[in-house]
Amino acid sequence: MRATATAVMEGWFALDLLVEGDRCRGVVALDLEGGRREVRAAHVLLATGGAGQLYAVTTNPGESTGDGLAMALRAGVAVADVEFVQFHPTALHHPSAPRPLLSEALRGHGAVVRDARGERFVDELVTRDELSRAMTSRMLDQGVDHCWLDATGLEDFERRFPTIAASVRSAGLDPTADWLPIAPAAHYLCGGVVTDLDGATSLAGLWACGEVACTGVHGANRLASNSLLEGMVFGPRVVEAIEAGWEGPRRSGAMRAVLDGGTLLENTTVSDEAWFAYSPRAQPAITSRQALQEAMTCGAGVVRTDVSLKATEDALGHIATTPTDDGDDRDHHELRNLLTVASAVVTAATARAESRGCHWRADHPRLDPAFHRRLLHHPALDSAMTPTPSDSAPKERAK
Ligand SMILES: Cc1cc2nc3c(=O)[nH]c(=O)nc-3n(C[C@H](O)[C@H](O)[C@H](O)COP(=O)(O)OP(=O)(O)OC[C@H]3O[C@@H](n4cnc5c(N)ncnc54)[C@H](O)[C@@H]3O)c2cc1C
Repeated sequence: MRATATAVMEGWFALDLLVEGDRCRGVVALDLEGGRREVRAAHVLLATGGAGQLYAVTTNPGESTGDGLAMALRAGVAVADVEFVQFHPTALHHPSAPRPLLSEALRGHGAVVRDARGERFVDELVTRDELSRAMTSRMLDQGVDHCWLDATGLEDFERRFPTIAASVRSAGLDPTADWLPIAPAAHYLCGGVVTDLDGATSLAGLWACGEVACTGVHGANRLASNSLLEGMVFGPRVVEAIEAGWEGPRRSGAMRAVLDGGTLLENTTVSDEAWFAYSPRAQPAITSRQALQEAMTCGAGVVRTDVSLKATEDALGHIATTPTDDGDDRDHHELRNLLTVASAVVTAATARAESRGCHWRADHPRLDPAFHRRLLHHPALDSAMTPTPSDSAPKERAK
């Protein structure tokens, strides 16, 4: 059954891209009753957000399961830079999900970070990735799962930071008297579906904007609030490009890595065959999601090594091949998408044997000029391609 392209299908869940020949023609979606529908469209815009649910601790909402990214990977659309996952160092360590953020403004105004012994151990004004690594390393050394943010010295807290004060108080803490428990949380996926500067992907008829896209603006790291740019600049640009009759990508932004030849990664998308052999009766879907999040957090999180990534890959393989039923509900498909994206992250993080931006390899702690290039998931490309020219490669941002 077909739906009209002009209707708003609230609550429907997009499953996969409809690709005919070399063009995207719409999506297959689950309707509110769980029935599969074809939604045909002249143009499809992926705007499904990030994939923070890959990790056990995240600031992202429950629906940030990398759906658009997974759809693109399954359809063979070029994806890049997914190893660059930004962790926010000062998420409130509290059972609530998603984790409330204690913004940089607190540290900017003098709040200090303390370890389990109450000692300061890091310059609080370093970048998000540096602070996340310092905290993770200290937490591992001390065998604890959080540090502390001491904002008790800040004057007039409630008036200057009313939103933070409210979320902290709702967790039963008084920011003027209590040290606040904090831990790094997965916050933003810098990479995504490769686009040009008008949001065109490598597949005609398919466009992407927002966190799901890899436009090239973030490089290997992300400056705070650049998502505003992703939404407010690239969203309208997509519309303008479609109205202007553009077909297919141009050589701009991250798309240069695809059109000029980037470094191809082996395609590790979990096949549908493996997936549909999976059974929630044996292991409930929620448990499988937690197992995936645990594996990604331990082995492909703030700090990675070849060994930890291999362990994560093995754990994902176990989840992917554990028998389950053939249910067609949203949880089932979100887990399927998480597995697809997790495999892509692990593959890219393994291949990038260096440390750059928010990708930290403890076994390769230096920047390696040989990796000054994007790593692409794109089965249609020739693996013998030349490296990406440096002007289109992920760069270190100014601190
Ligand atoms: C706590 C927090 C604070 C932040 N603060 C800032 C900030 O100060 N400045 C800044 O620039 N950025 C900030 N960010 C990042 C920014 O909010 C996100 O990058 C941005 O909202 C992403 O927008 P989006 O439109 O791409 O995706 P989203 O806003 O996540 O929207 C995606 C939509 O797609 C829907 N969707 C997903 N999958 C499917 C599917 N399969 N079928 C149908 N629908 C689907 C979702 O339900 C959702 O409605 C923050 C993020 C968090 C979590």
